[in-house]
Amino acid sequence: MEKKFFTSGPSQLYPTIKIHLQSAIQENICSISHRGSLFQTLFKDTTQLLKTFLHIPDSYQIFFLSSATEAMGRIIGSCVDQYSFHLVNGAFSYLFYNQSVKLKKKALKHELPLGCGFDIKQIKIPKKIELICITHNETSTGVQFDLRQVSQLKQKNPQSLLALDIVSSAPYVNVNYSLFDLVFFSVQKGFGLPAGLGVLIVSKQALQKARDLKLHGRLQESYHDFINLEKYAGEFQTPTTPNVLLIYLLNKVISDMKKRGISLIREETEQKAELLYKFFELSSDFKPFVSKPRNRSKTVCVAEAKFGSSYCIKQLMQQGFVIGSGYKELKEKQIRIANFPAHTLQDVQTLIMKLQMLTNKKNK
Ligand SMILES: *Cc1c(COP(=O)(O)O)cnc(C)c1O
Repeated sequence: MEKKFFTSGPSQLYPTIKIHLQSAIQENICSISHRGSLFQTLFKDTTQLLKTFLHIPDSYQIFFLSSATEAMGRIIGSCVDQYSFHLVNGAFSYLFYNQSVKLKKKALKHELPLGCGFDIKQIKIPKKIELICITHNETSTGVQFDLRQVSQLKQKNPQSLLALDIVSSAPYVNVNYSLFDLVFFSVQKGFGLPAGLGVLIVSKQALQKARDLKLHGRLQESYHDFINLEKYAGEFQTPTTPNVLLIYLLNKVISDMKKRGISLIREETEQKAELLYKFFELSSDFKPFVSKPRNRSKTVCVAEAKFGSSYCIKQLMQQGFVIGSGYKELKEKQIRIANFPAHTLQDVQTLIMKLQMLTNKKNK
């Protein structure tokens, strides 16, 4: 039976991946040199496509890494001398914080209970902070950060660089890049690709910070520090042999998404999320985990499940629908459903129908 993956990453592959994998083999993509002109063209085209598709200003650099977690570590290593500040309300925002702790920085955090969203007005950030880290979509609990607060945050903290994790909300999230210095995602979530590639978008100011740290011997030097990444990106290359296949597939999928249109993708995402939350609200057996609708993620919808998650997951699995459990300590209490561009409106409607049938069966 063909399965549909509603897990939050890896997830359902974008429908055109199969064709692109075949053409990659035909074009010998996995054998070309990463120091040759074919790769340089691929690098140049892909970063240009990303810039037009996501409306990233031309002055920003795009780096290819191995994962989003790597991006977190490289950001801290190249942009923080001493102090970072983190908005933490779940496992992934904590991961970013913890990368800073592990690199022996003075990492400060403002932490909220799981399921809650941040109100910038309530948060005091010390002047000495060099980098503020925000997770747009906390995948572990389905809480979305309200980006309308960012200009205020920026006004109050003009000295700090701003980093944004958009791993589980790209390409849906509409980022005003001019407000951020570091934005990153990996490709196995909303882009519907196999895992193994991280994309990091970096402002001039962030690159300058790396140069300043280097000058003072305070840069966390590595093959993937910003100085080295920038040097190679200048030649449309990467410091090490990258995942060329995934860069190729990302290029193809973005071209497909671009044809479909980013505004249509965004509209459909909102429409599907609304159907899911409406179902959870009206159901006697499910309840949206995030109580305030404005904090609810559009791309990872989380509900408390009265019968427990393992029952739901098992029943749906038998019908070819793979959904996620709650994260860690919430594993049995919740179900998590990804809502990415690879999930069609019809897929979501069918999934809701199946959840409804579960309810009917259990209540008989
Ligand atoms: C999945 C995820 C990550 C980690 O991504 P990797 O590619 O596995 O490193 C980081 N942040 C968020 C919000 C995520 O959902």
